Amino acid sequence: MSYAAAAKAIANASSIIVTTHINPDGDGVGAGLALVHALKGMGKQVRFCCPSRVVSMYAFLPGFAKITAVEDEAAAAKTRRADLIISCDAGDVERLGAVAKVKRSTLINLDHHVTNTRFGDLNVVDVDAESTGVVVEKLLRRMKVKLDKTLGECLYTTIVFDTGRFMHSNTTAHTFRWTAKLLETGIDAAAINRALTYTKKPHDLLIQKMGIENLRVDEQEPRLAGIVLSADTIAAVGEPEDWGDLVEIARSLAGNQVAYLLREAKDRKTVRCSMRSNPPFEVGSVAQALGGGGHRQAAGCTFVGNLAAAQREILARLRHQLS
Ligand code: AMP
Ligand code: MN
Ligand code: MN
Repeated sequence: MSYAAAAKAIANASSIIVTTHINPDGDGVGAGLALVHALKGMGKQVRFCCPSRVVSMYAFLPGFAKITAVEDEAAAAKTRRADLIISCDAGDVERLGAVAKVKRSTLINLDHHVTNTRFGDLNVVDVDAESTGVVVEKLLRRMKVKLDKTLGECLYTTIVFDTGRFMHSNTTAHTFRWTAKLLETGIDAAAINRALTYTKKPHDLLIQKMGIENLRVDEQEPRLAGIVLSADTIAAVGEPEDWGDLVEIARSLAGNQVAYLLREAKDRKTVRCSMRSNPPFEVGSVAQALGGGGHRQAAGCTFVGNLAAAQREILARLRHQLS
């Protein structure tokens, strides 16, 4: 892990693009925005370019309005070259979508996924960090950036999101000590919690209903449960702006150890898969074997094939994890 090299590259750069993964989440957006604010404070020219649109749930974060989407090669070609691109929370270069095509001298990869492919020119990958926000804060400390309320709000969002509101197995004594430092900047943690939790629209509740209606406990392995959504089922309700943590419905069943969500794409050629597990069971390796990635207990992939094939292949692998 080369915090010193990353700090040096930042010191030497004048134009910087900050980015995160496709379908950015609270960790990617929060870590990226914290970096944007800190780098601006250092007098750098900074842009936040995302490979896809950021959902409106994050609109409360300072700097959200200035995030731009670079969604295809044409947009990448039009994006002004940067000395440095800093990627936050992406495990591999494919997750950067079209932003990977933007011209730059150096790519820094800041991340915490166990499956990270070290795709950067400089890689700061800390698999023990609860969120990429934790990696960013450590880097900022090296660069003598002082925490303030703006940074606190962005970084707090990363930890709430990636620990599942301090519920997941990555929550440790360090998590609470680190978060306490953020609260000391004067942030309103409860207001952020509300903004990240109580902002569902009626349509989002219909998505939850669809999740419950399509929930199934495995016949062979009662500790395995999931939600299977065909393209037709999704079309009947309509796609949400954000799928959020629908997989948690399967996980909330008493006795559940491994949970999954399968969503068939409109063209029926791929199936998006989210997986969660309780220790000691692992889903990261299953996602990785299918071309995706993530963490030991939270991972995802895009399965190439139809829904029946995805169910056959993925469920067999998940049952094996439990055996
Ligand atoms: P999700 O199930 O989409 O919430 O993702 C769970 C974790 O797996 C997150 O940390 C993601 O960054 C990671 N992940 C999800 N999908 C992929 C993918 N296709 N490739 C690599 N990592 C992924
Ligand atoms: Mn993420
Ligand atoms: Mn993350």
